[in-house]
Order: sequence, then C-alpha cells, then structure tokens
Amino acid sequence: MKKMLSGITATGNLTIGNYLGAIKQFIEYQKNNKMYVFIADLHGITVPIEAETLSNNIRNIAALYLACGLNPQKTTIFVQSDVAAHANLAHIILCATTIGELSRMTQYKDKSSKQKKNNNTSFIPTGILTYPTLMVADILLYNPDLIPVGQDQKQHVELARNVAERFNNRYGKIFTIPEFITPKIGTKIMALKDPAKKMSKSDKNTKNTIFLLEDPAAAKKKILQSLTDNENKVYYDLENKPGVSNLMNIMASVDDISLQEITDKYKDLGYREFKNDLGDIIAKLLTKIQTQYNQIINSQKLDKILEQGANEARIVADKQMAIVKEAVGLTYKQKNA
Ligand code: ATP
Ligand code: MG
Repeated sequence: MKKMLSGITATGNLTIGNYLGAIKQFIEYQKNNKMYVFIADLHGITVPIEAETLSNNIRNIAALYLACGLNPQKTTIFVQSDVAAHANLAHIILCATTIGELSRMTQYKDKSSKQKKNNNTSFIPTGILTYPTLMVADILLYNPDLIPVGQDQKQHVELARNVAERFNNRYGKIFTIPEFITPKIGTKIMALKDPAKKMSKSDKNTKNTIFLLEDPAAAKKKILQSLTDNENKVYYDLENKPGVSNLMNIMASVDDISLQEITDKYKDLGYREFKNDLGDIIAKLLTKIQTQYNQIINSQKLDKILEQGANEARIVADKQMAIVKEAVGLTYKQKNA
C-alpha cells in the first residue's frame, strides 16, 4: 500500500481533462492505497478571482470528487485552507528556493504571458511565480510516495523532489522523496479547437473545453465541432493528426480501450461516425456524474465529509510541520524540559 496525494485548483469548473488526467486515477488508486485528495483553494487566488466564484468552485470540486466515486471512508478529502500547515510550510519552502529556479518553471512562463496578453497589462501577480513552493509544501507535508497527476504537473513534482532532497541533505531525513505517476492514456487532453494546447478549466474559449457539469447535449455538440483534418480516416498520429489523436485519446481513456481497438473499429468509417459515437460516450459519462453530483451538492453531508477530512489531514500535516520546525530551528523550548 502506497501513500498518495493530489489536488485540483479551485480556479474554475472541472473539465474532462481534470477527470481523465487526475480524478479517474484517484478512484482506481484508492482501492489499494491511502490517498489524500484536496481542493487547492489557496492556489485559486494566484490570479484575481471573485470571492463568490472561488467559494462556489471549492464546493463544486468537492461534490465532483464524490460524484466521480471518491470514497471518504477510504480517502481523506479536504480543503487546503482548512489545514493551516500548508501556508506555513510554504513559507519555509519559499525561503529554500531561488528566483532562478521558480522563473524557469514552464507554467510560470505560460501563465505570466497569458496574463499579459489577456489583460494587456504588465501586472503579474507574485503568486504566479511563487505558487510552486506552495505546491511543494502541499506534497511534502504528507510524505507521499506517489503523486498521481496529469503530464503538465511533472515539473512541479520534480521541484518537490529537489526541495525534499535539499532539506534531507541539510537536516537529515525529514521528507519522503515523492514520485510522479500519470495514466498512459489521458495524461494530456488537448483543447478541442486548438489541439496544440492543453485543455484547461481557465481557458477563456469554452469551445475548447468540456466541463463535467455542462449540458451533455452541448458537450456532444462540441465534440462534433472539434477541429480535425480533411483526411477523414481515424488513426493515431499525434504529430500530423493532433485533433483526431486527441479525440482517440479521450475515447480510449473514458472507455478503457486501446487506440488499436478504436483504429480497427473505425477503419471503414469516417469522422462523422467516430465523433458521433464519442459525443454519445461523453454525454453518457457527464449524465452519470451529474446525477450523483445533484444529490450531493446541496447536502449537509458534504460539509461533514470536508470537516472530517480536514481533521484527518491536520493530524498528519501538523505532525510533519513540528518535525520541520524543529529541524530548521523554529523552536525555543529547552531540549530536556
Ligand atoms: P488551470 O487552467 O486553472 O491551471 P487546469 O485544468 O490545468 O486548470 P489544474 O487544477 O491545474 O487544472 O490541475 C488539476 C489536475 O488535472 C492535475 O493533476 C493536472 O495534471 C490535471 N489536468 C489538468 N488539465 C489536464 C488535461 N488537459 N489533461 C489531463 N490532465 C489534466
Ligand atoms: Mg493547470
């Protein structure tokens, strides 16, 4: 049994990218492992967000975790800001990193240039540079063995590994060195109208994205209107057919089938049949998730689960925080008192 940890940022409505790259793995892994899964609300304020939107996002993500099958009896599900040690350790980690290593992060480059372009401003929130240190703290507080995430998060896990090694070399073994783990298929779902870029919940163009809570018929329409090519032949070629290959990845991942099976099935059929079938598969998935979600979102059960999760998480995180404080010298008590 391994210890695993992962989270999703409360920046918007969850997408099938979040489901296939992250949540679907959690459901599988929770069977035989101890998982900590949180809602990263502190990361949600990295770029400006309305208070009401943020708190709705937090609740929606929690309800979606449960609707997709996370089991609070097995998995510790909690809200990041409920566990004060995250922000506390983040400061200590921040002081153990350099501006150079943070500004080299791909997501810093992407998010800061997006910020400049979208808002036509030189206003770059400091959080865009420093949030990976909070992410490192999120991870290291729980000493997980594995971090199940999508491909885009690999660099952050590498930072966590580097920082953990840096601390262990200096202070003795205080952190487990975590490993990145990602699904073979579905690790990077691309934008439907622009398959060169990742599908993201904060994408302004909603035609690129299928949201877990959107109308299933509208989602099907987005699949039918997604960007492909003129060849009208279904086969996998990421370089020359990124649109079709992305749709194949989505189908393979949702239905747990191989790319070869899809190629065989559609070899005498065209894009219309393929997209139509995928649209139905997606609509069915969304309907199933939404049926569960609607039963949970307004229930008091949700608050209780998050309260219980925070209590469980605090016990682990506070213990680790005390070890770190002691190691770095943030302590003043007489040693043998
Ligand atoms: P944002 O645009 O706010 O960064 P996001 O959609 O990228 O939102 P995150 O909260 O950054 O979502 O990531 C949550 C989890 O979902 C991570 O494990 C991440 O790797 C995974 N993930 C995000 N987008 C995709 C995608 N397109 N394909 C596969 N996994 C994804
Ligand atoms: Mg992201």
